[in-house]
Amino acid sequence: MRTLVMKFGGTSVGSAQAIKLAADLVLRETPKWQHTVVVVSAMRGVTDALIHGAATAAHGDDQAYRGIAADLRVKHTLAVAELLSNAEARTSLLVAIEGYLDEFASFCRSIHVLGEVTPRAMDTISSLGERMNARVVAARLQEAGLPARAIDATDLIVTDQRFQQATPLMDATRERVDAHLVPLLEQGVLPVITGFIGATRDGITTTLGRGGSDYSASILGAVLNADEVWTLTDVDGVLTADPRIVPEARVIPELSYAEVGELAYFGAKVLHPKTIHPVIEHNIPLWVKNTFNPTCPGTRIVSDPMGTRGTVKAVTAITGLSMVTVEGRGMMGVPGIAARTFAAVASQGANVLMISQASSEQSICFVIPTADVTPVIAALEEELALEITRRDIDRVWSMSDIVIVSAVGAGLRGTPGVAAALFNALAAQAINVIAIAQGSSDCSISLVVNADQATPAVRQIHEQVINHG
Ligand code: ADP
Ligand code: ASP
Ligand code: MG
Repeated sequence: MRTLVMKFGGTSVGSAQAIKLAADLVLRETPKWQHTVVVVSAMRGVTDALIHGAATAAHGDDQAYRGIAADLRVKHTLAVAELLSNAEARTSLLVAIEGYLDEFASFCRSIHVLGEVTPRAMDTISSLGERMNARVVAARLQEAGLPARAIDATDLIVTDQRFQQATPLMDATRERVDAHLVPLLEQGVLPVITGFIGATRDGITTTLGRGGSDYSASILGAVLNADEVWTLTDVDGVLTADPRIVPEARVIPELSYAEVGELAYFGAKVLHPKTIHPVIEHNIPLWVKNTFNPTCPGTRIVSDPMGTRGTVKAVTAITGLSMVTVEGRGMMGVPGIAARTFAAVASQGANVLMISQASSEQSICFVIPTADVTPVIAALEEELALEITRRDIDRVWSMSDIVIVSAVGAGLRGTPGVAAALFNALAAQAINVIAIAQGSSDCSISLVVNADQATPAVRQIHEQVINHG
């Protein structure tokens, strides 16, 4: 085998103990592969802390970030003390960490003076957690005798300028990787690369969105044409449901890219929703494995997995949503209402997660994040003002605190009885289904329920449809 990309998430590199286990795993794998690339997240909680520091500074608090810098210093220093026995290596690493924390404090001081934090500044600040941790993990691997070197992905992953949600420019990234990373691999270096971050063509730091280190690993896997990409996390693989909601959820041995894409899109935090995009094209197997239970094989994600089509394999829920309805008996005869509705929604940059339209065309409903509701309704009322005056449209309204519960499995569209099984399971617990969407994807059926019924709905579908289906 040639190239393996191993990505360690925040918990997997969140303490000295975890970093030791992660390093053991790397030690075990490197002899089996010609090239190994390690991608690391910040220590768990660090990105949140950095963002919180910047946000409070912007809101006039010039103390919180100082406390955060002090806490992060303690956290990293303790880990370094436990991980490195070589005094020289320890001192130089602590000097580097001190430098990043000084940067953090001075950015926050400027933000405090300015009274605002731009998305661009937020990316520079939130990148510091990965920058620090790549150095910590690389130092541990060096101490274990491996030729590790910390590398900032800002030198490799080229993105557009959409700060906080940047998209990689794959051709430019491939050029950088060929020029800077491939030669290192050929020299036998073990790169330890920061997850989550990239840079514009001009070198300005960007981030790929929260949880984006998975995406970093698959971007690097694709441009290196790796043989496998592993994301190492704190659960045994992709499970039949979120284990925090369904403690008896089981590992799914194989899933398709499309199934995992659907699960991640509808809220399963185990992978960043965009992770599958780069690897699909090259058909690179993606594995989800547990750093803390390395003997468990995990979940293999490929294009054509084994297993029966047409069964529900997993259930997931996404929260923080509202359903907007455009409603009126006169809508039936008016051409282009749907197009105009969604153009108005798009003008506000809102992400539509689900659409359902009554066949009588008397209403169109769609689900968007609650944070976008006020501007979206204002845009709709402006766009449809004439129809509202004429009473062709009676009202545009929203229902907040709703959740999309999605049942995921390949071939659900063509399998009779799946929707009925889901409805029956929910009816048995008197859970009301507000709306349903099926068919846009072959892999999922989505149901809208009230937020307070999300947990019982997920448990009930898991129990009745996945376990006994
Ligand atoms: P990492 O820091 O390793 O990237 P994350 O916290 O981002 O880890 O994602 C792993 C977490 O995702 C698990 O600890 C689990 O609580 C949650 N999760 C939610 N849904 C699922 C699911 N269907 N399968 C596995 N984990 C899930
Ligand atoms: N550290 C980043 C975050 O917390 C990226 C990641 O963990 O994947 O969002
Ligand atoms: Mg994650």
